[in-house]
Amino acid sequence: MNILVLNSGSSTLKYQLIEMSTKKVIQKGGVYRIGESDVPITDENYNNEIPPKNHSEAIKLAFERLGGLRIDAFGHRVVHGGSFCSPTLATDKTIKQVEDNSCFAPIHNPVNLLGVLACKKVMPKIPNVMVFDTAFHSKMPEAAYLYGISFENYRKHGIRRYGFHGPSHDFVSQKAAELSGKPRDKMKIISLHLGNGCSICAIDQGKSVETSMGLTPLEGLVMGTRSGDIDPAAIGFLGKALKKTHEQTIDYLNKESGLYGMANIGSNDTRDIFAGAEKGNKDCGLAVDVFVHRLVKYVGAYAAVMNGVDAIVFTAGTGNNSPLIRRRVVEKLGFIGAKIDESLNNKAYNNFMTTEVSAKDSKVKVFAIETNEELLIAMETAKLVGKK
Ligand code: AMP
Repeated sequence: MNILVLNSGSSTLKYQLIEMSTKKVIQKGGVYRIGESDVPITDENYNNEIPPKNHSEAIKLAFERLGGLRIDAFGHRVVHGGSFCSPTLATDKTIKQVEDNSCFAPIHNPVNLLGVLACKKVMPKIPNVMVFDTAFHSKMPEAAYLYGISFENYRKHGIRRYGFHGPSHDFVSQKAAELSGKPRDKMKIISLHLGNGCSICAIDQGKSVETSMGLTPLEGLVMGTRSGDIDPAAIGFLGKALKKTHEQTIDYLNKESGLYGMANIGSNDTRDIFAGAEKGNKDCGLAVDVFVHRLVKYVGAYAAVMNGVDAIVFTAGTGNNSPLIRRRVVEKLGFIGAKIDESLNNKAYNNFMTTEVSAKDSKVKVFAIETNEELLIAMETAKLVGKK
């Protein structure tokens, strides 16, 4: 079975064709600058291609590049599934339901759905499966997903914590169990997805029981440009001080805050901020301290929520590639018996390795694991389509 996994953004469409018996990527690529201009893309890989006008044109271009390779099903990343708890076949009815839920992810969901609609239009006979970022967290206990406000707000308006990065937390926790030689449903795992967006997840016996992102991906850890947790009352004060409307203030917390805002060197890339700190830039140093402090606080809390932890996983751009962040976090986790092996840790640098980085006498296994959300989406798609 060949599954084409699609991740549609507002002006990009990334795809991977995966053969499921070997789990090998047959071809992958991206279509960029969708709908932006008709100036040819001069990058040597794009052969002076004119950017496509819309997502349907982008899909056609991707199919041309795939050169007639067989596609048995499409698997789409859709960020917010609202009340959907598992991967779902895209029909007119389910697409409409997801559309109705899009208010909590207005930047992502509508463009994710453009990809679904484009595939249905261009290849109507091939099934489309929507795999939601939120689905892995949908079995969280009520006590973890409810906010401390009247439950009417949840029951009537859906205001609750949903969590994101589900396919990544799911994938790396499966991998951690495999590397530990134990079934995941017998383990307590904490997974730290530290990319430009960052979230942490407590996985008890294979189920997400807590995660740091909430109603939207703004809650929780300090991120590349997002503030993460902040006193809701600060939003009013900030808006007043910066003369911004409520929407502009939220935008500021999403796009101009986090490491970017704190370090103030015009970059949200942790490599630049770590380098700034090393050269003695005080704000860069302080930004890294805040980032690490928040991580340690959450890991401690999640170990408490699960009454223990067997494995801690670092993944995504920073988590997978930065020995510094792993060392700085784990050195504060002596109280749960976690210990890093400096030499193993230093080898997992800038190269997306999957490896154990904990010391032999560590009571908790620590891993750097390359995430693979596309493969997880393909596996979920194959499972659902295989059932039909
Ligand atoms: P992602 O969202 O998973 O693609 O991660 C992107 C982020 O990972 C970048 O913005 C960088 O901050 C970070 N990153 C990538 N490589 C490294 C590295 N070698 N060391 C530290 N951070 C890295």
